[in-house]
Amino acid sequence: MAHVVLINPPALKGHTNERTYSGGIGVARPLRPGQKDPLGLPPIDLLYTAAVAERAGARVTIIDLLLDRFHGAKAERFCSERIGEADEQTWIGIRLSIPSLLQDLAFGNRIKELHPRAKVFGFGTVIMATVDHWVRDCRMDFLLYGEPEAMLDKVLAASDFRQVEGVLCPDAYTPLEGDDLWDGAKNEARVHQWVKVRNLLDLPRPAWHLLPLQRYAPDGDLSRLGVFVQASRGCPIGCTMCPYMVLEGKPWRNNAIESVVDEIEHLNKTYGIYRVRFRDPNFGFNRRYARELCEALIRRGVKLSATVETSVEVFDEDNLRKMYQAGIRTITTGIETNDADCMESIGQKISVNDKLREKIALCHEIGFHIYGTFCLGTPEETWETVEKTWRFANELDVESGFTVMTPFPGTPMYWRALREGLIPRRMRYSDWNSYTATMRTNQMSTRDLEIARLWARLETIIPYRMKRARRQGPAAVIRTALRLTPHYLVRQVLRVVVWHRRSRSRGTASREGVPAAAAAE
Ligand code: SF4
Repeated sequence: MAHVVLINPPALKGHTNERTYSGGIGVARPLRPGQKDPLGLPPIDLLYTAAVAERAGARVTIIDLLLDRFHGAKAERFCSERIGEADEQTWIGIRLSIPSLLQDLAFGNRIKELHPRAKVFGFGTVIMATVDHWVRDCRMDFLLYGEPEAMLDKVLAASDFRQVEGVLCPDAYTPLEGDDLWDGAKNEARVHQWVKVRNLLDLPRPAWHLLPLQRYAPDGDLSRLGVFVQASRGCPIGCTMCPYMVLEGKPWRNNAIESVVDEIEHLNKTYGIYRVRFRDPNFGFNRRYARELCEALIRRGVKLSATVETSVEVFDEDNLRKMYQAGIRTITTGIETNDADCMESIGQKISVNDKLREKIALCHEIGFHIYGTFCLGTPEETWETVEKTWRFANELDVESGFTVMTPFPGTPMYWRALREGLIPRRMRYSDWNSYTATMRTNQMSTRDLEIARLWARLETIIPYRMKRARRQGPAAVIRTALRLTPHYLVRQVLRVVVWHRRSRSRGTASREGVPAAAAAE
């Protein structure tokens, strides 16, 4: 019997390791001094892959090195103990993510060295648009060029796994080289070979039973644990900076409504879990599907407290009320910017913000918690557009998260940034984490953008928290104001810094067109 071991490799130190996000490519927020990396569940594709391998008759072991927080020799020893005697029937998969890519690859190479008889492979969406840059340093037996749950059963069943569509063996692969590595058309030809699950209905449920779920739950209480459910993949809207539409594709694929409800009901009945984070890139893209899913959840009385990511402006009142009734409590929505040129740059229209204003007010009235995400750093971004955006966030009265433009390889924004010289020809895997600025704009340097992100964050989080405290009375106001004292101080300093950089940028821009600090990068 085959033994499949799937490993979530060691954490990237000093960062969060949110490997299921951004289409599975991963997000990593730098930790503040003294802050601990919050524990999260392994990426959902790893759990689907485990379930597919089990269905194919394999014995499956999941090793989550984020859970045990092991690194280096300790991590290797721990894996060796769990793998046991490795032979030709042992298949060891290493889950790769962009922020930790180089250390993930080194870890995979080391596992191959330690278990030469086993077949060691890498998987994860980061492979799609970056493989040519690093495949020559890869010592693993093969990579899964596609969604791993679409392929692993075929690999296990094949007489020669090398012949399976999507299996990429580093020793037999000819990567792009030199200028071709930075050629959009040549790269896109590769990306089209990415293997996808054609029908989500064919997938088994994610293998939650293979995880020690209680260890992930706060105080071991499974009713407080939030897990991932995925009802659909892909988003046809195609925003230019969005990794989902590259990694999951533009065509929208969905699971059957009854299967999704069965899955949540199974979580309720088997584990007492009812907190769910839908991992659909745009939950409401197909409004009819979203409405019917909510109706089925209500009809079957499934217990649910869920978060979805969706464009909120597409829903009508009836839909929103159904979503709330079904148990959706938090809506994360990408608002991105409040400037017409920046909005156009990401492939959207500014008029959407008028609809948003109205829909978010309605969501508040219904009782949803709205988390708005904003992205600073399109090529058109300036200090003025940053201010316009955070003022809009305050007007909407939403909890706001600000990220900086991350030119994920393969996205239209990445190719544009390369063409326009806004990023250098250099792979910056660990910096492509949504929080480190790596792409300048026409007017702002990467340093400006990092300052702008923090400034926008503080200009929004302080009023947001104080407003909520005021609703609770004077004691809450005093408590919150005291807690926010460091925030007030940093905001004051930032206001001075921003004023200074802004005046300097205005002066240089009027003389030379592009501020020197931005042009110098
Ligand atoms: S709407 Fe959201 S998921 Fe769809 S392409 Fe735009 S950013 Fe991506």
